[in-house]
This record gives sequence, C-alpha cells and structure tokens, in this order.
Amino acid sequence: MDRMSAGKASGFRALWICLLLAAVILSALATGARIDHASGIAGLIAAPGQPRRLAVSLSFDIEDAVDDNESISVPLILRILEEHGAKATFFITGKAADRNPGMVRMINQAGHEIGLHTNEHLFPVFDEDKAEKVAARYGTTFDYVWMMSYKSPAAFRRSLEANRAAIRRAVGDVSIISFRSPCLVASWGDRPEYFGALLQSGILVDSSILQDLSSSDSVLRGIYEREGVTQVPVTRGDDILRPGQMGIISRMQAAGIPAVLFFHPKGFGGYELARLDRLLSALESEHDTTYLTVAEAAGFTSA
Ligand SMILES: [Zn+2]
Repeated sequence: MDRMSAGKASGFRALWICLLLAAVILSALATGARIDHASGIAGLIAAPGQPRRLAVSLSFDIEDAVDDNESISVPLILRILEEHGAKATFFITGKAADRNPGMVRMINQAGHEIGLHTNEHLFPVFDEDKAEKVAARYGTTFDYVWMMSYKSPAAFRRSLEANRAAIRRAVGDVSIISFRSPCLVASWGDRPEYFGALLQSGILVDSSILQDLSSSDSVLRGIYEREGVTQVPVTRGDDILRPGQMGIISRMQAAGIPAVLFFHPKGFGGYELARLDRLLSALESEHDTTYLTVAEAAGFTSA
C-alpha cells in the first residue's frame, strides 16, 4: 500500500475486525445484577395462551471512516424503516456527524434515536492489560489495539463530549442517553472507570456487549444494570441479513428478551437493503413484533 492509502487501510482493518467480531459469538460477558423488566419491555409478555410478543431493537453504527457509502445507504435505510413503521437507534461518531450533518438531521427528523459512538471510533481501552485481552480475542496484536485505543478514561470522556458536540452542531440540543462502544470492546471485562466516564458524559444506556450465543443452552442476558448504567446486550450483527439466520429471533422471543440487532450502513449495498426489508417483513409476519429504540428497550421513554 502507498502512504496515501495507509489511513484508509487502517480504517478497513478496523472495519474488518468489527465485521469479524459481528460474526463471532462471544462468551466473556461482564457480570452484573439482573433487574426486573424495564418499563420499555414491560407488557410485552403476553397472557397465557397468547403468543408472546417480540421486542426488536434495530441499531445502525455510523462511522464514516472509510468511504462515503453511508451518504447513499442511510437515506434508503430510513425509507425502509418508515415503510415498516420502525423506530431505530443510530450510533453516530462525531467525525461522521461533522462530515455529513445533513444525514444526522435526516435521521433526527425521522424520529429515530441518536446515540454516541465516540468521536473518532477508537476503543475505550485504558490499560495494557485490557489491550492484551482485546488483542487475544480479535487475533490481532497488542500494538494495533493500543494504537486504536483512548488509553485513559479522561481521553475517552473528552471524545464522548466531542461526539455530543458534533451531534449538536448538526441537530441542536437533542436528548442523547445511549452509547455503543466501537467494535463492542466492552465485551471483555468492563472497568468501573468506563461506566464512570459514560455517566459523566450523560450516558445512561450502554449497548456494547454481545449475547453469548455459543451454544443452544448458553444463558441469555436480559436488560440489567451495571455501575448505574443500564445494559442492553446485543444479539446479532450484520450477519443476521444472510439467509437462514432467523432461529435466534425465536430464541430471544421465547426468552422474553429484546432482539438487539446491529448493522453497518457503510457496508450496505442493494443486497443488504433488500435483505433488511425482507427481514423486517418476516419479523412482522412471523411474530407479534414491536420495534423499540435502544433507550426504550432499557426502559426510557423517547422524548
Ligand atoms: Zn462502530
């Protein structure tokens, strides 16, 4: 690669790792006390004899570090969501918001939730010990993870504040209470200072750990609280759009836990758009489906 493409290559590598992660089911989940069903999903449990309703949170991570495909795919995704009457959550980096404030306005005007995704899409990793763990999980090097990390809670918090400021430049003073960690690195042991930084930045809901789907009897996690931050575990990533992946939806429904799906619009072409449309149609025809934003799944009502 030449020097000019080095930055892009780094972005591609980060994307590749994120997509790899989306395809891999993780077992190292943080511990935390379970709480009762948050109000957002209360009432979704049907009376005996009736089919149990399905809560689905659709979420889209917008990073814009690689190319401009999001400018094309996001408006088309918004149209699909509108056709299905689905409200979703868009986790948007500050850099993406600054690059395309019109896209953020479009998302906001359509009534979807906007969440933070850091300003620069680096990892909330603050010490070398955790960087080693993340590197081992990704099958990459410590040096790479450390280079892609905030390295301190203070730097992470500044990034969250810059992220919020960028969203405000685009859409004004909207309520933002949800966060998703780049590449879901919170899956490998959360530190108190991570939650502290989130709370200090006005974040009350964190959707940054993956459900353990490694076996058919692995324990599924509902909504729970950790260090004052409500956790909304993620069920599956972009790979749910491939054919034959719907089984997990029924498993979430049977467990009475929201199915939290996350997608990367920068990877969306015609195939993904068509599959998203088909996925939502299948959810609606096969289940009694309610769409919730991530904040709603956590029990917060939307403004
Ligand atoms: Zn991301």
